[in-house]
Order: sequence, then structure tokens, then C-alpha cells
Amino acid sequence: MNTENPEGTILVVDDDPFVLKTTSFTLNNLGYSQVLSVESVAQAMVSMRSANPPVEVILTDLNMPGTDGIEFLRQLADEGFAGDLLLISGEDTRTLSVAENLARVRNLNVLGTLAKPIRPGVLQKILTTRAPVTDAADEAGNEGSVEISPSRLGNAIADGELEPWYQLKVDINSREPVGVEVLARWPQPNNEMLFPDSFIPVAEAHGLIDPLTTLMLDKALKQAEVWHGQGLELFLAVNVSMDSLHDLGFPDRVGSLLEASGLKESSMLLEVTESRLMQDLASPLDNLVRLRLKRVRLSIDDFGTGHSNLEQLRDLPFDELKLDRSFVQGAASSETTRAILESSVELAKRLGMTIVAEGVETEQDWERVAALGCDQAQGYFIARPMPAEAIPGTLREWVARSSELQFASHRAPGWSEENEV
Ligand code: C2E
Ligand code: CA
Ligand code: CA
Repeated sequence: MNTENPEGTILVVDDDPFVLKTTSFTLNNLGYSQVLSVESVAQAMVSMRSANPPVEVILTDLNMPGTDGIEFLRQLADEGFAGDLLLISGEDTRTLSVAENLARVRNLNVLGTLAKPIRPGVLQKILTTRAPVTDAADEAGNEGSVEISPSRLGNAIADGELEPWYQLKVDINSREPVGVEVLARWPQPNNEMLFPDSFIPVAEAHGLIDPLTTLMLDKALKQAEVWHGQGLELFLAVNVSMDSLHDLGFPDRVGSLLEASGLKESSMLLEVTESRLMQDLASPLDNLVRLRLKRVRLSIDDFGTGHSNLEQLRDLPFDELKLDRSFVQGAASSETTRAILESSVELAKRLGMTIVAEGVETEQDWERVAALGCDQAQGYFIARPMPAEAIPGTLREWVARSSELQFASHRAPGWSEENEV
């Protein structure tokens, strides 16, 4: 499909009728005759299904009332849209970069980003140098998944079969281990181990995520007590789905489990992941604030890939920002990724948040996130997730290894006063 003039339809989505008119006009002038323009995501989805010839290129605004461009990207990914996307925004370049990254991790093919007002020359250049379209639908559907029945999972949770594994989080400056992330594992009778990707979606879809979280919290808190008794002061980072935060009983359940454990509230951090866009923010916000009042710390997980956006960062009371590993690992190779990383870190610092880099796999990853100004790191370079009994030995091993490593200085020369806020 690397032709100069697409044979398919070009779909333009923008809530501003004036922009729609001028963009269609520009496209017609550039020789593209099959242009459809619509004012909303809902209309766009209808056009997507009915357009003849099929839609091959979409130009979409990101800021639209109602369903915005970010949600549109998710819907397109769900439909397996394999054409090309051009993102348009009157917003700052950071929003565009974050949106572009989001589209990329969802296997959508982004041709480029355009700032408003659109310049015909730039538009033509992008459209005429279109790269061949990758088959996004194929790649997205390729996760080798095991069939798990909700009732078997429900029984396993009720019987306490799921086990928390733990992965170290370390302070980048001091290199000291500060906490562990709790990651659910489901051992099978045949000695196989099931990983969260195979059962968390089932739990979320069948109302089992709350009991699962409670089980992990309960077991991990008991483990933390044992560690504290041995002089290991590690905070627990527990994963919580946004779904759980719609339940107004959640903060109290967390509170009573904490109280029963006798651990300090501040020794617990909840890593919140959004599995879908929050339509209704009221109850999650209530719950987040109530958890904060209980002095439980809150982390926004998978930053940069989920539905988390910069506005939510401003509006929700998070203490920690966890950069998704797709940023951390891709940081060397891509200018865009680097730009998103730097601006996210800068924003989080301005908001007084702790910044954690996940997926630190190599010494280079470590040095790069240290230079960026991240506070903590987690990843295979430090240690893989492991059962509780392996933690004390791994801690000793890390302390010995990290003191021998010749890490670069804590901050790269480029990270100085003008970046610091
Ligand atoms: P996550 O919260 O982003 O957790 C990090 C995932 O990255 C873990 O996968 C971890 O094993 C993996 N990881 C850690 N370091 C590295 C690294 O250096 N390189 C690479 N390639 N991967 C690394 P895991 O354990 O399979 O968990 C997957 C996801 O499942 C988690 O992503 C989390 O969103 C979810 N999850 C796990 N346990 C729970 C739970 O108890 N409750 C809920 N709601 N979700 C959970
Ligand atoms: Ca997490
Ligand atoms: Ca993540």
C-alpha cells in the first residue's frame, strides 16, 4: 500500500467544522478525492465500518468533546485497524508524543503528528512517504493464552492457591533496596506456573479481581511482618486494578488488613493500573483520596501506555509515577520516546512524585534512567520476581554486586538546574 495516492478512503475526524472543511479542501487539492469528514468518534466508527472503499488513512484531532482522540485510538486498536494514522492537535508536543507512543504500543501505525493549523506541504510530505502498513491485527492477537475458566479461578482464589512473588525496587542514588512489588502467580498441579497475563483479565471480567487483590494483600502483609521481624524494612507495592476503586468498601478493607498486620500504613503502596478509560471518576477519586487519608501511598502504573494521561496525573492524588518498561527499554533508540520520558519525569518532579523506572534490564538502562533523574529502579538487571524465601539471599547478592559496579554519576551533565524544578 505504498502508493502515492491511497486507493482507500481518507477519514478526517475533528469536532471543529471549520478545520474539517479546510482539511478536506487541502486533501482534495493534493489530489485525494476519497475524503470523508466527521465531527465525532462515534460518527468515525460508523464511517469506518461502512466506507467504500475502506478507510486507509485517518487524520484525527486528539482534543474533542465527549469521546476524545485517545479513546478513539483504543477503539481503533480493538477493531484491529491496519491503516495509517495521522494525529493532529492544537496541544503541546508532549500530548502528541504521548498519544503517538500510546498508539505505537497498541500496534497502530502512526504516520506522524501534526500541529494545528495544518500546513498543506507537511501533510503532502507525510502522505506521499507512507511506509507499508504493518498487519497490526495479526500481531495483537498473537498472545499464546491458556483457557482459564472463571469458576476454576474463583475456586483457586477462595482456596488461597495463588501466591505472591516479589520483585525488588531499589533506590537509584543509594542503590539500597527499598521495597518489593507483589506479583501474583498461580502454581498448577502439574508444576506449571501461570502468569498474571493469563488470569488477571479473567478475574477482571468476572468480578474476581477484588478477592484476588485481597488474597495478595493478606499473604504479602503476613510476609512483610516476617521480614520486618528479620530486620528487613521493605515496603510492599501491591497491584490494584482501577475496577477495584469503584467499590466504596475497598479503602476500609485495605485499612483493616493493614491494621491487623501491625505494619505502618506508609509501608504500603498501591500501584494502580487502568485497564479501561475511566468514564466515571467520582468513586475512584473518592477511594484514592480516602486511601491517601489512611496514609497509604499511591502509584500510577504503566505510565505512558495505559489510559493514564497528563490530566489525570494532575487531578488524582498519586505519590509515585511508574514509567512503563516500553519507555525505559526503548529510550536509547527513539527520539520520540526520549522526549516523552524526559517530559514525564519533569512533570512528575514538578508534582513532587517519586519516579520509578520499571523494566531496567541492563546496565545501560540503569545509567540512562539514573541520568534522567528517576528515583527508583526495578527490573531483571537488579532481580527477577521470585518467591518470598529467595528475597533475603537476593538482597545480599544485590548489595554486593551494586557496590562493585562502576555506575556513572547520579546525574548526567545534561540534567542540571534548568531541568530541575
Ligand atoms: P506490572 O505491574 O507492570 O508488573 C511488571 C511486570 O513486568 C511483571 O510481569 C514483571 O515480572 C515484569 N518485569 C519486571 N522486570 C522486568 C524486566 O526487566 N524486563 C521485562 N521484560 N519484564 C519485567 P508479571 O508478573 O507477568 O505481571 C504482569 C502484570 O499483571 C503486571 O504488570 C500487573 O499489571 C498485573 N498483575 C500482577 N499481579 C497482580 C495482582 O495481584 N493484581 C492485579 N490487579 N494485577 C496484577
Ligand atoms: Ca505494577
Ligand atoms: Ca508496567
